[in-house]
Amino acid sequence: MSRVYNFSAGPSMLPEEVLKKAAAEMLDYEGSGQSVMEMSHRSKVYDGIIKGAEALLRDLMNIPDNYKVLFLQGGASAQFSAIPLNFMNGSGKADYIITGQWAKKAFQEAQKYGDAKAVASSADKTFSYIPKTTASDFRQDADYAYICMNNTIYGTVYKDIPDTGKVPLIADISSCFLSEPLDVSKFAMVYGGAQKNVAPAGLVIAIIREDMLGNARESTPTMMNYKIQADAESLYNTPPCYTIYICKLVLEWLKSLGGLEAIKERNEKKAKILYDFLDSSKMFRGTVVPEDRSLMNVPFVTDSDELNAKFIEEATKAGFVNLKGHRTVGGMRASIYNAMPVEGVEKLVKFMADFEKANS
Ligand SMILES: *Cc1c(COP(=O)(O)O)cnc(C)c1O
Repeated sequence: MSRVYNFSAGPSMLPEEVLKKAAAEMLDYEGSGQSVMEMSHRSKVYDGIIKGAEALLRDLMNIPDNYKVLFLQGGASAQFSAIPLNFMNGSGKADYIITGQWAKKAFQEAQKYGDAKAVASSADKTFSYIPKTTASDFRQDADYAYICMNNTIYGTVYKDIPDTGKVPLIADISSCFLSEPLDVSKFAMVYGGAQKNVAPAGLVIAIIREDMLGNARESTPTMMNYKIQADAESLYNTPPCYTIYICKLVLEWLKSLGGLEAIKERNEKKAKILYDFLDSSKMFRGTVVPEDRSLMNVPFVTDSDELNAKFIEEATKAGFVNLKGHRTVGGMRASIYNAMPVEGVEKLVKFMADFEKANS
């Protein structure tokens, strides 16, 4: 067996320990005589899995008691509609910061339901930075403000949570979920698709302050109504059982490493290895302003499309896969989520240095 270093933006690498544990438990989960894939979501044994996952998440993220944790489906993209349906119901206004494609898609969806306003954008420079804002940029009667915390495609991240005054702040944290500590109490809601850093595809985790719940529009589809999901403890219908089980294993793995402070240290170390190389290289360079660089997604380019293509081809042959950048940025992107070992980044940088020598 040989495993590659997978730099995919998502679905992405899972910790090898998690995959091995899942394999070992495949036929018989803890003496139940069944795979987790086969068991009733209403069974006692499954209750232990979903409740266990929630308890671990609350512990790792230090989630305050007045927040609900929901396990949902439909991907992060379904929340683009669910958020306005649930919350755009006071003044009917919502303020969005456009830092990339995912923020833009969320904004465009909200425009269908009310007065969504783009209060800042970094589209002028291909989303290579985080626009600076102050509380006065937000309409103080808006029902919520919305950001995308880590911009998966463009490789930017908010290092500081924007001040929105008294407007409740909602953040898409899909691609930085559990990558470092986050002060949940600063947000009305954070949510993310699990397939970047938490689990396989099929699961969205939403963490919502309780006072936000209960004001959804009449027309909100039942499955998208956060209050209904919260009251049903994420078991209104069949949840993505197996994905939640893998999520629990990933959370156990994170805890065994020492939690979010420990994974942050490791993620910073990995990112530094790559950014230091990009800053010293004469062939490769990062595309993001240094102060807004993501720890998770690192886009980079050479000055030639041909060289980019050659690099991707040779890297793939050498076992460094999914390095092609998003079609809107071109070049390369290395996604180095929690499960990417330090060694994977060290080896990639060595490969890049050798490529540079051989091609200049
Ligand atoms: C991947 C991604 C999405 C879209 O996720 P789906 O689960 O495919 O809908 C949304 N936001 C961010 C930040 C992402 O990285």
